[in-house]
Amino acid sequence: MKSGIDTTKFIFISGGVVSSLGKGVASASLALLLKWHGLRVTIQKFDPYINVDAGTMNPFQHGEVFVTNDGAETDLDLGHYERFLDIDMGRKNNTTTGQVYNEVVQKERRGDYLGATVQVIPHITDVIKERISRLATEGKYDVVITEVGGTVGDIESLPFLEAIRQFTLQRGRKNALNIHVTLVPYIKTAGELKTKPTQHSVKELQEIGVQPDIIICRTEHLLDSEIKKKIALFCNVEPLDVIEGHDVGSSYDVPIALFEEGLAERVFSRLELKPRKKPIHSFKQWKEFLNKVEKPVHRVKIAVCGKYTSSPDAYKSIIEAFIHAGAANNARVELKWIRAEDVEEFGAEKYLNDVSGLLIPGGFGERGVEGKIKAIQFVREKKIPFLGICLGLQTAVIEFARNVCGMKNAHSSEFIKSKYNVIDLIESQRGVQQKGGTMRLGENPIELQKKSKAFSIYGKTMIHERHRHRYELNNRFRPQLEKMGMVFSGVYTKENLVEIVELPSHPYFIAGQFHCELKSRAMKPHPLFKEFVKATIQFQKSI
Ligand code: GLN
Repeated sequence: MKSGIDTTKFIFISGGVVSSLGKGVASASLALLLKWHGLRVTIQKFDPYINVDAGTMNPFQHGEVFVTNDGAETDLDLGHYERFLDIDMGRKNNTTTGQVYNEVVQKERRGDYLGATVQVIPHITDVIKERISRLATEGKYDVVITEVGGTVGDIESLPFLEAIRQFTLQRGRKNALNIHVTLVPYIKTAGELKTKPTQHSVKELQEIGVQPDIIICRTEHLLDSEIKKKIALFCNVEPLDVIEGHDVGSSYDVPIALFEEGLAERVFSRLELKPRKKPIHSFKQWKEFLNKVEKPVHRVKIAVCGKYTSSPDAYKSIIEAFIHAGAANNARVELKWIRAEDVEEFGAEKYLNDVSGLLIPGGFGERGVEGKIKAIQFVREKKIPFLGICLGLQTAVIEFARNVCGMKNAHSSEFIKSKYNVIDLIESQRGVQQKGGTMRLGENPIELQKKSKAFSIYGKTMIHERHRHRYELNNRFRPQLEKMGMVFSGVYTKENLVEIVELPSHPYFIAGQFHCELKSRAMKPHPLFKEFVKATIQFQKSI
């Protein structure tokens, strides 16, 4: 089949009624269904906020920042896309209003629009349209899915929806399909599902000139055929195009549920697409994975001690990485969220005496750091499995420097200037003034030391991992730390930066300066997580 911009089909996914409908998971699931049918598919997210990227946003508000191989700081939905589809996303898979305006303003300053009054329509919408299709020109895909963030009716998303309207008109509805995800709430007192919010949301879309082709209705209860008919009639679609998206146990159930609802067939029919293969084999494999997630043999409790523990979206990829690693070990991982400040105040034992492992995630700012250090000391001494991520590595090194190497008040210069700044800025970060996009970002190669734990876990000497941080292990202190038993088993050799530390005297004590959670995929757990969960199961058996 010929491929490229002229033959590529486009699917737009918008959301209505309320936010948090799981549009990202629905989009990723649809992409997966198409992949199961042998189509080459990619997916992107449009975010209507004015930030140029998610990197400058607070994780409490926005959830985790998902970093791609090419160093883009993106929306967490890109994590769903990678985990479900097992493909790498990049800078081009996430567009924000900030980027669009930036581009238009730069063009205006350069003189590209000389003589014209620069306006939302056509200048902003033209840039959005270019961004809709640029993945098709570059990637050679059969289908490009574009998820639009926010909720229909928001002022911010209007230019995106207008661009989609124009695009759909210009390409024709056989080449551009609109899917709207809504909520059909159940009103307990009436004992009824209500279709009105969906009708209103679709009306709002229609006012903009976008007619949805397919409506996915999120619901707690099953939609009977009468309800589907009613939604179809009032929203101007076929009853078959009203797809039930009922609540399921885990997000990994969603592709199965949408498959069984016939979503893929509807998409094929509307876009006049043909499957390239039968989906049954991939479907079965996914079911097997799901079975392991839902019916585990083991159960194990692991503590996550961090700063954003009241807001699990801040640790989305970590939660998912544990689901993947759990499935690979036939285990359900129960996460015990611990506020680092509580450990600081009340000590580690109170919180860690019932867990089989500790993970310290990445983070910024001094708050809770002493609590993390106490927690690490506890698991190091008690030989409880430990995995450190980014700040988790840095705090592990500080703890070791203080309590094993006798470096009093050892610290990171991010927090306190000390005689023993075992974690410090490297030269290239010293002059940095701008905050946005200036950390060490994205993937780089890491060489592993043979005979190390890291090498035995990864099973190879060259690995690639993703970064998002400014501070590094200070090479000046390597000899002292090494002398007391810390092994630097992974190094980014080009810059001589320590990437992995481990303690061979401990059953599982390993930390990476990178974010391994970002590379875990549904059926390809990250090796560090997989072995960590295995070690926690062994620890549990040993006590
Ligand atoms: N705050 C630390 C740094 O910037 C760690 C960052 C992180 O954990 N992602 O180096």
